[in-house]
Formats: sequence, structure tokens, C-alpha cells
Amino acid sequence: MFQTPQTWVPAGSRERIETISRTHLGEGDPSGSRSGTTAPTVPMGEVVAGIEDLIAASDRLHDEEAFNLNPASNVLNPRAAALLSSGSGPRTSLGYAGEKYEMGLKHIEQVEVVTAELAARLFNASFAEVRVPSGAMANLYAFMATCSPGDDIIASPTTIGGHVTHHAEGAAGLYGLHTTGSPVSIDAYSCDLDALANMAREVKPRLITMGGSLNLFEHPVAKVREIADEVGAHLLFDAAHVCGMIAGRQWANPLDEGAHLMSMSTYKSLGGPSHGLLLSNDAELSQRIDAIAFPGLTANFDAGAVAALGVTLADWIECGEDYASEMRASASTLADELSARGVEPFRCAEGFTDSHQFGLLAAPFGGGMTAARTLERAGFLTSGIGLPAPEFPGGQNGLRVGTPEIVRRGMTTADMPRMAELMTRALEAGQALCAADQEGPSTARVRHGSTRHGSATEAILSDIAAEVSTWRKDFTEVRHTA
Ligand SMILES: *Cc1c(COP(=O)(O)O)cnc(C)c1O
Repeated sequence: MFQTPQTWVPAGSRERIETISRTHLGEGDPSGSRSGTTAPTVPMGEVVAGIEDLIAASDRLHDEEAFNLNPASNVLNPRAAALLSSGSGPRTSLGYAGEKYEMGLKHIEQVEVVTAELAARLFNASFAEVRVPSGAMANLYAFMATCSPGDDIIASPTTIGGHVTHHAEGAAGLYGLHTTGSPVSIDAYSCDLDALANMAREVKPRLITMGGSLNLFEHPVAKVREIADEVGAHLLFDAAHVCGMIAGRQWANPLDEGAHLMSMSTYKSLGGPSHGLLLSNDAELSQRIDAIAFPGLTANFDAGAVAALGVTLADWIECGEDYASEMRASASTLADELSARGVEPFRCAEGFTDSHQFGLLAAPFGGGMTAARTLERAGFLTSGIGLPAPEFPGGQNGLRVGTPEIVRRGMTTADMPRMAELMTRALEAGQALCAADQEGPSTARVRHGSTRHGSATEAILSDIAAEVSTWRKDFTEVRHTA
């Protein structure tokens, strides 16, 4: 009946997986062949209804009850969402427009061309590759187009939000590349240029990568291109998170600044479908990427996602500057308002942030994960992150906050004082619990409200959650659409 328990998965997760399986699928197997029991299984009609209920509950949470402050997530334009779930997704699509291998594709091939043109226009690129299922795959395409297995690359380390796909456990390592983490300037929350130049002369990388999962101030792309040129390396800018700042003309376009390739996810600040995108002004690299996309790593791509991406890009071309500047201003205001209430953002030489996201120092609130769980109970969705700040023993020292979704829902800087006030109240309630409970892990108590302090905290957090849920209903539309 059930899969064999995955012994390599953490025990807590294994327990959760087993509970989920039993709840939704039942205890046994009619044949008794694998579980050794004949306890009843849940009929498939009920399983289907159960899946529908879970997705409806998730949508309610995100669309009606909570504010999503996770910059790695966003809401789709409903017209894009309709296309994403249309019948075109599972149609075939392989081959060049005009030379598709299968019949019935004369409409889909036009969508593919239009979306690629919109991507190239929005990002001022000569070439756009849309047959990329995710940001991680966009990075893999970029590694394959620029490097061979065994080559060295230099990439942003995790201390400044560098992504796992650039490192040993991710796409780079799996493709056989050896990654050296670039030297960091904490003041700039970017790479240290002098030290990078020295490192590049020593390592002789085939590729240098920049950009990460938290971007606070503009990265010195043009200067890194000079370093790359000196050692004969290509430069990849990973815009998975910061693509909205670039598309909305708030940050300089890394392609204009000299990046050979720009990769991204399209569902984060861009607010499109879960998909990837790769852009370049370099014809030779683009030809390689075309072959990596097909016949390399995709056969039939998801035409529904490409159509949804087309709508998303049109929204950006029409309304992107307004959307991005409001995201950026709201992030700054929220960071300032939190700081004024004693919840301190991570600070660089130039301040808290010049983008749509920022980091909060989470140690006073039990670390990033505990703080994120506390906020979740109060109706705010965020995530932990590592910051170049004092370590938090046994956990992440930061919390990542971003404004893509709340601004797309119509919030502005004017809403940020109230947002900061509610978040501060929640974090302080969690903090009181941590202080009252130095002995054991406070996370469990916040989760279960199992102590006297725990239930008091629980009451405060559910009061805030009720207020958040009421306020949330003022922001049901999706703005900044063409
Ligand atoms: C999220 C992210 C990715 C991976 O994107 P997916 O679309 O989720 O595969 C790559 N790079 C960075 C910097 C990211 O933050």
C-alpha cells in the first residue's frame, strides 16, 4: 500500500509523511500484498475530493487569510492562471515554429514565438529561451552552455544568498563543476571586487556567477565582467529573485552591464507561472542554449505555462515600472517601520535595502525558523535565511521578507506601518515565549501552545491572525495587470 519508508529522510518528516498517507489513503491494501493488512483503503473518488479540498484550503490561506511576505512567491494575473490550467499544457510542442514534428500545433507555436519576443523586449535581450521548466534548469542550461564537467566556476556563496544550484549539491555539482564561493563584501551584501579579481586569477574559472536569493543593493556587474574578461570567463547573472527590479527598471539590467547570460525563475518577483527563463545577447551561447533546450533537456515543454508567461510579460511591459517601484518603496518603508519598533533589519553600508526584499535579524526571536513559524500563526508567511550576521546556534539567524505579493494585491507604502505593527506584536509574543522557555526548543511550544506561556502566546497570535484575516479581505484583486 505505502512506499517503503525513506530511511534517509529526517524522522520528523517520516512521521508526517506516514500520517498524511494514512489520513488521505487509508490504512491498508485490499490485497494485503505489501502492508500485510486488509484494512480498507479510501475509495479513489474520496481521494480526488481530498486533493481538491487541500488545494482549496491552500488557496484560502494564501488568498484570504494570510499576507504572503515571502519574496519567493507571488500571485498570478487571473488571465494567466486561466491559461496555465487550460488544455494546452499537455499538448505536444517540440520543434521549431513552422517545422513542428507533430500536427495541430499551429496555434501553440505562435504563443511560443510571442512569449519569447516579449521576454526579449522586456529584458532588452537579443535572445530569449522560454523552453526552461524552472530557474534551477535555467542555471543548468547556462552551466552546460559555458562549461564542461570538471571545470571550475566562482559563484556567490550562501552567506549573501547564493543559491544551491550554483554549488556542489545543486545543478553545478551534479553537472561535474567545481565551485569556489566568491569573496564577500558584507557592507555591500555582494562580492568583494578586489578579492574576486585575485581569486579569479588563481582559480581561472570558466564561469563567474552573481545574484542570489536575497538581493539588497545593486551588484557591481560591469566590474565583475571586467574581471571575467581578464581571465577568459563567462558571466552569468542569476535574477531568480531580482528579475522584477530589473524588468521594472529599478535596477540596471545586468545584460546591459555585461552579463553574458541572465537566468531567472518566473514565479517570484515576476509573478508568473512556475517556470524558468534564460536571456542573452551572445549569439554563440544562445545557439548552444537552443540545442540544450531541444533536443537536449526538454522535448515537449508546458505550452500552458508559456502562455501564462506571455501574459505576465505583457503585464510587465505595460505596468512594470509602477509595480516594481511600489514593491521597492514598500520594502524600504516596511524595513524602516519594523526598525522603529525594535525589530531590526540586517543593515548594509547604505541601509537596509534598495530592492523588494530585506532580511530581519532573527536571533532575538528564536532564530529564523522559529520566527517564521511564529509569524505564520499570526497570518504572515515568510521564511528563514542565513545572514552575514552573528550565528544563531542550531538554526538560521535571519528571516527573509519581501513585498511582491502584497503589492500585487494592491498594498502600498501607506499600509506598511500597520503591517509592521502587527508583525512586531507577533514577534514580541513569540519572543516572550522564548524568554520564558530557555530550557527546551521553543518551536514546539509555539506550535502546540503546550505551556501556560504557550497558551497565552497562542491567544495573542490568534487574535493577530483574526485581525490579519479581516484586513486581508481588503486586498482581493490582482493589480498591475495590462
Ligand atoms: C529560487 C532560485 C533558483 C531556483 O529557481 P526554481 O525556479 O525554484 O528552480 C535559482 N536561483 C536563485 C538565486 C533562486 O533564488
